[in-house]
Amino acid sequence: MPTRLPFGSLLVPVRLSRARLTAAKLARYSCAIVLLPPAPSADDWAALPHGGLLRDLYRRKGRKPGDSVQLKVGPRAQTSLIATCVAETASTFERLQCAGRLARLALEGEPESVLITTQGWVADGADAALCATVAAIQAAAFRFASFKSNPKSHVPLAHIDIATDHGLADLDMTLATSAGNNLARWLTALPPNTLDAAGYRSLLQDLARRLNLDFKFYGEAQLKRLGAGAFLAVSQGNATRDAGIAYLAYRPGVAAPGDAPERIASRATPGSARGAAAPAVALVGKGICFDTGGTNLKSHKSMLDMHTDMEGSAVALGSLYALHRLRSPLAVDCWLAITENRIGPLAYKPQDVIRAHNGTTIQIIHTDAEGRMVLADTLSLAASRKPRAIIDYATLTGACVNALTERYSGAFTNRPEARELIEAAGTGSGERVWCFPMDADFDSDLESTVADVLQCAADGKGDHILAARFLNRFVPKEIPWLHLDLAAGTRHGGLGHIATEITGFGVRYTLDLLRRGWPAKPKSQST
Ligand SMILES: [Zn+2]
Repeated sequence: MPTRLPFGSLLVPVRLSRARLTAAKLARYSCAIVLLPPAPSADDWAALPHGGLLRDLYRRKGRKPGDSVQLKVGPRAQTSLIATCVAETASTFERLQCAGRLARLALEGEPESVLITTQGWVADGADAALCATVAAIQAAAFRFASFKSNPKSHVPLAHIDIATDHGLADLDMTLATSAGNNLARWLTALPPNTLDAAGYRSLLQDLARRLNLDFKFYGEAQLKRLGAGAFLAVSQGNATRDAGIAYLAYRPGVAAPGDAPERIASRATPGSARGAAAPAVALVGKGICFDTGGTNLKSHKSMLDMHTDMEGSAVALGSLYALHRLRSPLAVDCWLAITENRIGPLAYKPQDVIRAHNGTTIQIIHTDAEGRMVLADTLSLAASRKPRAIIDYATLTGACVNALTERYSGAFTNRPEARELIEAAGTGSGERVWCFPMDADFDSDLESTVADVLQCAADGKGDHILAARFLNRFVPKEIPWLHLDLAAGTRHGGLGHIATEITGFGVRYTLDLLRRGWPAKPKSQST
C-alpha cells in the first residue's frame, strides 16, 4: 500500500506578532493560551481580557504552577481561553511535560487557530515557555498516516500565532526539531508492509529529491562486493532482495527547491559544492523494518511492535531534516541500515561465523541481536568518508530499557571526557540520556574461540554495554563517536511533550548536542 511523505503537514504554520492580547483580538481565535509567571501580580491578571475571572478560577481551585484554567468566552462562547502559571524552577523536561498537557487541553475542541502569548514575565522564562508550548502543539496537532476506509473528519489547526513584544530567538530551532520529530514518528508508526525495505527506499529517494540531498542506495550486490558480511548475514533471511544501506548527504550552500536565491548565496561557503566538503558529522541509524528475532524467533508479545525497530533510522533522518531546515553550516552524512530480520531456510543462525566490512570476524550467538550486526557495517562505511564525528541511533537492547526504563536513553562514547557535555545536551533538550561505562575490559566478555569477537554474550548480562563495546570495533579510534541506545524511543503514555507511544526521541537531543559544539576540538588544536 503506497504512501507519501507528509511534507505538507509536518508543521502547522507559525506567525509572530507584537500586538497585545485584547478582547477584540481574542475573538478572532478559536483558542488562546496565556503563559504567566508562577505568581502573577494583580496587574498581570488585570491586563488580560477576563483576567479577574481567570484569577478567581485559578485561586478557587487551589491550582499550582503548571496547572491550567480554561474559560469559554466571546458572544457564542467560541473562544477557549486558557491561562497557565508556569513553574519557575522547571527543567526543560518538566517544561515540555507541562506544555504537553496544555497542548492536549488546547486542541481538545479541534480549534482552527491558536494564539499563544505571555503576560507578566520579567526574566527569560517566557521565551522557554513559549517555545515549549509551540513544540507541544506541533507534536499534538500532527497526525500519523491513516488507512481507515472512512476516516473521521477533523478540523485541522490552520495556524499558530505568537504574540510577543520581542522576537523569539529559539523559534527556528523549535520548528526544525518539531518537524524532524514529526517525520521520525510518522515513519516509525507506518505498518511494516508499507514501510518495508522497498517502500522505505522510495520514500528516502523522494525526500532526497525534494531537499536536493545526495542519495545513494547500497543494495545487496554492492554490499557483497564491499564485503559487508555483517549486514548481509541479517538481510539474507528476507524473502525479497530489497535490503540495503541508504546514504543521504546534506552540504551547506547547496540549494533546496523553494530557497530564495539570496538565502543560498548568503549561506554558501567558498568552495562548498555538492559532495565537496568532508562531513562534519555522520548520523547512522538502525532501520530494521520488522524484527521477528530471526532463527531465535521472538514470542507474540515481544514481536508485536517490532515494526518500530527502524526508529533509530527515522531519528537519524529526522535530525538530518531538521539540520537541513535550519540550513546548518555543518556538512552532514546520513547512513541508514534498512532490512528486516526474518526467519526462514536462508536466515543466519547461531554459531555462523561472519566477516564484516572492516575484516572483523564475528561468531553469531543470538539472531535477535541483529541490530549490532547491521550497524557494524554501516558504521564502518560511514567512517570510510572520514567524518569529524559519528552519532548512531538504535532501538538496540532490552537491557538498556531494564537499566533506565523508557524515560532516558543510554549514551555510550569513545570520548569519556565528553560525558558531561553529552548528558548536558540531554538536560538542555529535555531528551535525557545517561552515559554508561565503556571500559575496555568489558571486551573479555566477548572473547570468541573461533572468531575475532562474539556477537553478544550468551547470558545477556549488561547487553547494552557489551553491544556498545562490540560496535566500538567498527569505529576508528580517531573519530569521536556517540552511540545512543534508544530506550526512550517508545513509551506507553508518551514522554515529555509527546503524547504518542512512539516518541521520536533523539532529534531535539541531536541538535542541542551539535549546537554545544560536540565534538569539541582537542585542546592542542584549539586556537
Ligand atoms: Zn532483534
